[in-house]
Amino acid sequence: MSLTKEQILKQYYGYNAFRPLQAEIIDWVLYGQDAMVLMPTGGGKSLCFQIPALVMQGLTLVISPLIALMHDQVQALKANGIAAEYINSSLSTQEQNLIERQCRNGELKLLYISPEKLFTQGYLDWILSLNISLFAVDESHCVSTWGHDFRPEYTKLNVLKQALPDVPMIALTATADKVTRKDILAQLGIPEAKVFISSFDRPNLSLSVQAGRNRIKIIQNFIAERPRQCGIIYCLSRKNTETVAEALRKVGINAKYYHAGMPAQERSEVQNQFIQDDIQVIVATIAFGMGIDKSNVRWVIHYSMPSNVESFYQEIGRAGRDGLKSDTLLFYSYNDLLVRKEMIADSGLPPEMKEVQVAKLERMKQYAEAEICRRRILLSYFNEEVVNDCGNCDVCKNPPIRFDATLIAQKALSAIARTGENVAMGMLIDILRGSNNRRIIEHKYHEIKTFGAGKELKADEWADYLQQMLNSGVMDIAYDEAHAYKLNNASWAILKEGRKVQLVRYRPFEEKQAEREAN
Ligand code: ADP
Ligand code: ZN
Repeated sequence: MSLTKEQILKQYYGYNAFRPLQAEIIDWVLYGQDAMVLMPTGGGKSLCFQIPALVMQGLTLVISPLIALMHDQVQALKANGIAAEYINSSLSTQEQNLIERQCRNGELKLLYISPEKLFTQGYLDWILSLNISLFAVDESHCVSTWGHDFRPEYTKLNVLKQALPDVPMIALTATADKVTRKDILAQLGIPEAKVFISSFDRPNLSLSVQAGRNRIKIIQNFIAERPRQCGIIYCLSRKNTETVAEALRKVGINAKYYHAGMPAQERSEVQNQFIQDDIQVIVATIAFGMGIDKSNVRWVIHYSMPSNVESFYQEIGRAGRDGLKSDTLLFYSYNDLLVRKEMIADSGLPPEMKEVQVAKLERMKQYAEAEICRRRILLSYFNEEVVNDCGNCDVCKNPPIRFDATLIAQKALSAIARTGENVAMGMLIDILRGSNNRRIIEHKYHEIKTFGAGKELKADEWADYLQQMLNSGVMDIAYDEAHAYKLNNASWAILKEGRKVQLVRYRPFEEKQAEREAN
């Protein structure tokens, strides 16, 4: 008799209970349906396809982009007594032949494969001739140009469902906003898949931002206040990690650097020392942390600003996996922003992808410059509804003076509703201010009830308030529909139930800049 999912959880993994959503997802997949799973890193995505793989008859094919991650997962499965292997470019022909034989003989439950390997000449046909019971697409945001880590080979994965439409597919990712989500499902050919989203909130992480001056001195104090605690400092470049580690050593902090340009052995040495608490401070590029499972990282510092909110969220997420209080600090300077902009300009990406990267960088900048609860910004970015400020970020702890902006918000939201959620910032401001330009007339927007309802505010003021509204989750934005504003549950609560909105009074850019300089 085959085991139930609960028995498998206990017997193979040694766990007593499923985490929220895991059981539902597993049942849905076992029912033969397509699914998309959004869970933060460390949330427990792997079980969502590994357990169905063990319950089902045939082979589960797992598409995974990172060779290192593949290796780790397969090792962990084997250690638990589960028949799993991987095929990628790192294997010898002999090793590969052996695994292929096991596949044909039905001896494996899970086969991990990289998209590159899958799409090498003739290989796909062979794979599809196996007795496959489930497709799992890990890191599925790689399929979307709206995601932050687009990989062109991923876009060919739509052939899987085309070839075997009855085999269920489960797409997993830790990071995707609403637009990316929709795109992933379309690209994989599973537009009707049920989407399972677990909360992205990590209340044990404190959030703060400081101006990017005297960074070493600030880090030195930060570490001095946290004796014997482990932490990671993320830097922009390999060179940066070396110079920052050096600067910290000079002030008596035993820091080591880590980046992908180091020899593999040296890298794993540093990683192991960190895992075993032999070194407390790692200065690293984003290469560090993928696939390492250290639960007591007490803090994460960003020496410079990441290029988007997804990456930022993922990186701070390496702190406090044990659920205990942990701190995060982001350094921000205008110069960092310019560097990021240059990197996008020089990236060689096609223009439309550059535009997406710029829009994502803009949201990151808004996080750094925020005057509203930073957790609100993070969670609303992932389209999670937030009702209260968090109380555990620097803005909440030292709040700017706010005013009741409910009427302002209602005017904007009502105009968005009356335009059929079709307009972006510029047009919306024109409507609110009653500008009679040609595009307004063309769309007959001058006939709607809210036309000119916001005349009393200047265009700059509106731009500022709309941005604050977006960041606090009062409405959404659709990057794939020319940045049109969209209403969400919170918007309707404000329009229909009189939910209150508090915003920070507009100040001209120069004034804000001067305040920041003074801090
Ligand atoms: P993700 O892929 O979402 O980053 P993983 O699947 O690697 O996360 O899971 C993160 C950790 O949580 C792993 O150590 C995993 O064994 C553990 N885990 C997953 N599900 C459970 C559960 N139901 N009970 C206890 N631990 C779990
Ligand atoms: Zn807050």
